[in-house]
Amino acid sequence: MRNVSRTLLLTIRTSGSYSPFDIAVNQRNIGYQFLKEETSLNQQQDRATAGFTVQKEAEAKLPTEYGPFRIVGFRSTTSDEEFVALVKGEIKAQEPTLVRIHSQCLTGDVFHSLKCDCGPQLQRAMKLIQSEGKGIIVYQQQEGRGIGIVNKIAAYALQDEGADTIEANVRLGFGVDEREYGQCAEVIKLLGAQRLKLMSNNPDKVRALRNAGLEIVERVPLEISAKQPAFKYLLTKKEKMGHLLQLNGIF
Ligand SMILES: [Zn+2]
Repeated sequence: MRNVSRTLLLTIRTSGSYSPFDIAVNQRNIGYQFLKEETSLNQQQDRATAGFTVQKEAEAKLPTEYGPFRIVGFRSTTSDEEFVALVKGEIKAQEPTLVRIHSQCLTGDVFHSLKCDCGPQLQRAMKLIQSEGKGIIVYQQQEGRGIGIVNKIAAYALQDEGADTIEANVRLGFGVDEREYGQCAEVIKLLGAQRLKLMSNNPDKVRALRNAGLEIVERVPLEISAKQPAFKYLLTKKEKMGHLLQLNGIF
């Protein structure tokens, strides 16, 4: 048996977050087979996550109304955050790839709320990828621009009394936009894309992905003909958040 007297770095989950602990493993207290498996697993993870703070955990087929996709699950190695990517086709670094970072919107994506355009944007992105035959949607689970669903409902209550989406967030003590896109950029890179045709109206996303070293070769607008309850929300996005919206036919 080779010398296995060494220190292993194990990751232990504590109170909802991952914290590294150095654990001295005594050769007398641990079997060789376990050490062998643990060592090769660590080496694999080191290779997979070198320079990254997310890692791929699972992948499966996902047939949808819009066509067949693959669904890929990632976990952050620095927080509890999970990321899901819908992927279609063979992703190649040198070829421009249709990409969307879709921020979770329970009310819009699941309940088909008319207060925003999120649900139809997600569906449009899936349809565009289906017709292109190739692309990626990163589903970022940062509800309500990062404030969480319960705070978002509280913000909606303030909007019922006349506040706009930004005023409501600020009154609740949050920033205008609490989202970060760095780990979404990592997911996109791990999936093999480098040159993006980014489906977004949000200049912050374009900037963030460029800063993360991805090339944006084209911005594909995702403008939805929204219904009346979303008009104020979309106007606020355009006028106060700089979103690139025409809003033709509305104003
Ligand atoms: Zn929404």
